Formats: sequence, structure tokens, C-alpha cells
Amino acid sequence: MSTQTLEKPPVPALDEARAFAARRHQLFIGGRWVEPQSGERFATHDPATGAHVADVAKAMEADVDLAVHAARAAMEDTAWAEMKPNARALLLNRLADALERHADEFAALETMDQGKPVRDARFFDLPYAVDLLRYNAGWATKLNGESISLSGPGTWHAFTVREPIGVVAQIVPWNAPIAMAVAKIAPALAAGCAVILKPAEETPMTALRLAHLIEEVGFPAGAFNLLTGFGDSAGAALTAHPGVDKVTFTGSTEVGRLIINAAAGNFKRVTLELGGKTPCIILPDADVGAAIQGAARSIFSNAGQICNAGSRLFVHRNIFEQVVEGVSAIAEGTKVGGGFDADTQMGPVISSTQRERILGYVKGGLEAGATLRAGGREIGGPGAFVAPTVLTDTDAQMAVRREEIFGPVLCAMSFGDEDLEQIARDANASDYGLGAVIWTNNLSAAHRLARKLKAGTVRVNGGGLDPALPFGGFKQSGWGRENGREGIDAYTEVKSIAMAI
Ligand code: NAP
Ligand code: MG
Repeated sequence: MSTQTLEKPPVPALDEARAFAARRHQLFIGGRWVEPQSGERFATHDPATGAHVADVAKAMEADVDLAVHAARAAMEDTAWAEMKPNARALLLNRLADALERHADEFAALETMDQGKPVRDARFFDLPYAVDLLRYNAGWATKLNGESISLSGPGTWHAFTVREPIGVVAQIVPWNAPIAMAVAKIAPALAAGCAVILKPAEETPMTALRLAHLIEEVGFPAGAFNLLTGFGDSAGAALTAHPGVDKVTFTGSTEVGRLIINAAAGNFKRVTLELGGKTPCIILPDADVGAAIQGAARSIFSNAGQICNAGSRLFVHRNIFEQVVEGVSAIAEGTKVGGGFDADTQMGPVISSTQRERILGYVKGGLEAGATLRAGGREIGGPGAFVAPTVLTDTDAQMAVRREEIFGPVLCAMSFGDEDLEQIARDANASDYGLGAVIWTNNLSAAHRLARKLKAGTVRVNGGGLDPALPFGGFKQSGWGRENGREGIDAYTEVKSIAMAI
């Protein structure tokens, strides 16, 4: 065999991604790239190797102030404030085209910065981001009000209009950086808001690259601003700033609470996508093979770092052992490694801090009496790797069962009969209410159970996301919805106009 055939195929656009990372990165404020006021920068690292990826500008309070002023100016400037809806749609579609053209480079940057398998970035995160732009572009021309019949004395012509809320601060986490950033900016820009985006400190690279595309396709100055920086400085300053009209946030429930308090000063509108502890329920009639695959995918994709990861598995006792064995076999057979390795099925977790946090939950569960069926250990390497893990014999009081772990850790439980009330009670025994998945071929049970679950999204016999389907949480999983009509309406204020005629 020649050495040629032993070589791994090259990762498309890896050189472009590396060249971009090596550039001098700045903040994007008011249509210009500017140095941070403090002159400070911070480093980001590849979680698979620990290697240095880039130095990025560290925005602080003074930069937040400049960005808010630039965004407010855009809301007053005719170029953005009076841009016709079809022109906003065109800009978003051009951005979608540009992102699609550069999808290989974005996927490589995402893997370098976040760790996920480059295949996942290229064939899930990027197409989803492109779809989000195109879907929301379509709404720009359809944000109409209603004409209303009034009952009071006199003759009236009354109607509502939807106006952009104004300046929106958008704070996103590190688990799906480009998809989260686009999920935030696309509806906000389609509605005519001015945006200030703060990516997570761990993963700023694709947001930086996106800002260059936004500049290239020609959004007016100040309509989009990018602040790279830390949550406790840049993030906190944004959420408290009186010039910000709305905050949209995805991340931890703990920071969500801080944001609610910070937003109270000027009654900012707030949309929060917080944690989850999604139950995955397998009824005895289900296609067991498909359910095993689905349950494993739901918790091990993105190394479990998904707010909607199916982290609690409820299975009918007749098929419990079969399912646990099946999911554990997938866990043990999963190739864990660097995201640029073509064989890798699961990448690293975001940092060694997260790895220790995840393993701490597993250890706590085992000490409290849980049984380990797969994984439960770190995988050596320079990076932060955790083996896909399956636990049984947990109880509802254990932290591993109750709290969002944000790692590849599944707790599997059995139920005895098909009492849908009891199944729903167990599944609903959580502070969270983001998602739920049911596996069954019983149409009646699927409908009845779906209505009993306290979750923002219920999926039957499958998973996934769609820009058209509202997404968000009941209970402590958040406030409001993203995606769909609800998602774009959340960037508008309704104004009622009544004229005596
Ligand atoms: P996080 O602290 O909630 O971070 C999310 C975003 O909020 C980041 O951009 C962060 O900036 C920013 N932020 C932090 N403190 C802030 C503040 N006081 N004011 C305004 N913005 C602030 O989440 P994390 O530290 O990345 O992860 C911790 C845990 O949160 C995870 O283990 C997981 O359980 C949960 N989480 C959930 C989701 C989800 O999709 N629901 C996503 C990520 C994490 P920095 O980057 O500087 O921290
Ligand atoms: Mg944090």
C-alpha cells in the first residue's frame, strides 16, 4: 500500500479557517472594525488539543456603550429604519448565500474552536444556519398587523402595526456557536431591529467570520454589531444598559436569572432559552431498534452539549434491558476523538472544567447507588474527552438525574405498566420543561401523552430542529419561543392605531 492511500483526506477549507483565525481580530461597531477601548485581548483554545486558536478583542463596558450608541443610531437612520421589508429580506438572503458559499470554512472554524466533528458542523449546523436566514428573510415582508372592529360609540378605523422593538442584545453559548448566533440575528434583523451579538468567550470564531460576511453583503452601519468578550463584563453591561430594548439569551438557568434582574431597570423585553432535562419515553409497542438509535443520538450528539439532549430515558420494563444494552453498546462503540479526524463520531467537551463537572455528576450518582452500564470515565488526550455514559438505578433526588449536566450522560429508568398519567408524572418531575421525545406506534397513546407532557416541544419517533417550528421551554427552561411566527413576533411591538372617521 502506498503512503498516499494511508493519508487522511484533507479537511476542506482548513487552510482558510487557519488563516482567518490568525488575523488580528477586532470588535465590529457601527459598521467598522475597531480596537477594544482597553486594548486587551483574550485567547481561545481548541478543546480537542488545547492548542491556541486565536486572540480576540475583549469588549468591556466602554465598548458596550459604543455599540449601544451605534445600534441606537441605526434605529434612527433612514438607511436601516426606513429600509423596505423586501430589501431587508434580500440582505438576509444574500447573507444566507454567502454563508452557504463559505460553509466549509465555517465548519472548519467551528470544529477548531468548539470541537464538534467537522462533518456535524458542515452537514448539520451550517445548513441549519443557512435555513434560518432564508426562513426569517421570508417573514420580513409578512409582519402585518390586523384591522380591528371596535364596539364603542362612533365610527372608527382601527388597526395594529408591528414595529421593531429596537436595540437587541443577543447573548449566545458555546455549544452550537454559528447556529445559535444566526438563530438570534436572523429574526431580529428581519423584523428591523438593530443587533448587538455577544458570542461565548470559548467560541467567538464563527461569529467573527459571520460579521465579515454581514459587512460584505452590505447591511447598513450599526444594524449589526459584534462584541467578543466575557459574560460577567460585556454580557452583564449589555443586559443592564438603558439603551438596550430587548435581551435574547441562550445558556444556563443561573445566568438567565441574572439577566432577568439586570433587565428590570428599564423593563427590557426578555427571551430566554435555558437548560433542559429532556425525557425520552419508549412505550412497549415502539420500533425498539429505531428507539435505541434515537435515544443514543439524542444524548450523545455534540457530546451531550445540547439544551434539548434526551438525558432521562424512560422505558417499559418488558424492553428495558434490551434498550439499555442497545444504548450502552452504542456508547461503548462510539469513536471519541478530535473533530477533524474522519473516524470521529463524538468530539471533546468544551473544556477541562466541563469535563470535571460532568464526571463529578457521574461520581456523585455512583456514590449514591447508581449502576454504571457504559462509560463513566475520561478519555485520555491533550483535550477534554468524556466517554459516553449510561447509568441505571438512579433516583429522582440525585443531582445526576435532576440537574442539567450538558455532557454525554444518560440516566435510564423503567416503568411498569402503560399508565400514561404515571409516565407523564415521572417525565414531568423536573424543574425543566424544554423538550420531550416519545417512541411508539400507538397513535392514541402518542397524542394523549404528548398533551400531558410539560414541554415546549414534543417529538414522536424522531428528533431535530426546524426554523418553522417554535422552540422554547415551559417552567425553568425559559421565557418565550424562538423560530416560527412566534420567534419573529418576539422582536416586534404591537402598536394599535384607532381613527375616528
Ligand atoms: P452561561 O454562563 O450561561 O453562558 C452563556 C452566555 O452567557 C455566554 O455568552 C456567557 O459569557 C454569557 N454570560 C455569562 N454570565 C453572564 C452575565 N452575568 N450576564 C450576561 N451574560 C452572561 O453558560 P456556560 O458557562 O457557557 O455553561 C454553563 C452551563 O450552562 C452548562 O454546563 C449548561 O448546563 C448550561 N448551558 C446551557 C445551554 C443551553 O443551550 N440551554 C447552553 C450553554 C450552557 P461567557 O462566555 O463569558 O461565560
Ligand atoms: Mg459562563
